[in-house]
Amino acid sequence: MSLDHLAEQQLTRINVMQPWLGEEEVAAVSEVLRSGWVAQGPRVAEFEAAFAASQQVAHAVALSSCTTALHLALVVAGVGPGDEVVVPSFSFVATTNAPTYVGATPVFADVDPVTGNLTAATIATVVTPRTRAVIAVDQGGVPLDLRAIRAWCDPLGITVVEDAACAAGSTAHGRPTGSEAEIATWSFHPRKLLTTGEGGMLTTSRADWAARARRLREHAMSVSAADRHASLLAPPESFDEVGFNFRMTDLQAAVGLVQLGRLPEMVARRRELAARYADAVAAMPGLRLVGDPAWGTTNYQSCWLEVLPEHPMDREQMMEHLAAAGISARRGIMAAHRQPAHADRPHVPLPVTERLTDATLVLPLFHQMTDAEHQRVCDALASAWRP
Ligand SMILES: *Cc1c(COP(=O)(O)O)cnc(C)c1O
Repeated sequence: MSLDHLAEQQLTRINVMQPWLGEEEVAAVSEVLRSGWVAQGPRVAEFEAAFAASQQVAHAVALSSCTTALHLALVVAGVGPGDEVVVPSFSFVATTNAPTYVGATPVFADVDPVTGNLTAATIATVVTPRTRAVIAVDQGGVPLDLRAIRAWCDPLGITVVEDAACAAGSTAHGRPTGSEAEIATWSFHPRKLLTTGEGGMLTTSRADWAARARRLREHAMSVSAADRHASLLAPPESFDEVGFNFRMTDLQAAVGLVQLGRLPEMVARRRELAARYADAVAAMPGLRLVGDPAWGTTNYQSCWLEVLPEHPMDREQMMEHLAAAGISARRGIMAAHRQPAHADRPHVPLPVTERLTDATLVLPLFHQMTDAEHQRVCDALASAWRP
């Protein structure tokens, strides 16, 4: 390889993730701006209907983020002070924060070493008579076995909230993730597959929970702003409980509608690139790529690699090695129990969480990634160790 070529390679940086946005999103936002109705309105209603259809769920309520969706999910499920909510420490911190918003206590459970997700067995070890709910995450898009978890929790009256923040486009038992959940939450942050800048969704099989979430997102107002606007003589509104402003805007929903149309293509491209990573990594001892579980398919929102103990590099050294080749990887999923905000919570030993959070990294994977960029990452991984 010539020196010039090398210098050029080191200058072009490969990012871990890039949203896939185009002129269609620009046009959709312009149309909303020209309409003069920019807050929650017809585009939000359209996005909710389209999302519910694509995820095969009865009700979808658009919100400002997945964090606010988790908060509302616990409110409508009746979780409150004195209750315990089982969560994986191995997740973005919002999963652990949500129970505290309603005065409940998050209780950490460990995760499965292969998928990084809660299982009925890890939940069972921390359940007490005070357990009211579980927030079970499809980590990085890898679907959890919700059927097994619900088979265990439902008879005990424990509500299972599926935190599907990362999982739009993943499947479980041949159906979209979240479609078998009583209640699920979704994120449209740019780090996920579908983006609306910021944004979230709550989906549920229960009409009463959906109706209450719709009111609560809008200050618990008895008449929605869109309905008041539609009538010349607006009916008087009342505020029957303390609500929130967790609304999505029509500007965001217009982007979401276009993005939802791109989802099948996004997932197909990600799975194609991930399959090539998997083939390459299969020939590299000391590395494990996290892929599909037996019961479903992942959208590869995160394509993670575990650096096993037999590899001569640890995760930090591997990240430095990739960075030297101009490749920006990311440390794997965080562990909430190690963060100052939650470090004083008593918890059972979490050996799998600690091992995975220390030994995993997220590889670059995005829709526009070129074959040459993909090859550069594979080459860099291969050059880390040739036993
Ligand atoms: C990203 C993420 C969230 C938070 O989503 P926001 O839309 O940014 O609030 C919650 N849970 C999990 C598992 C996530 O990955």
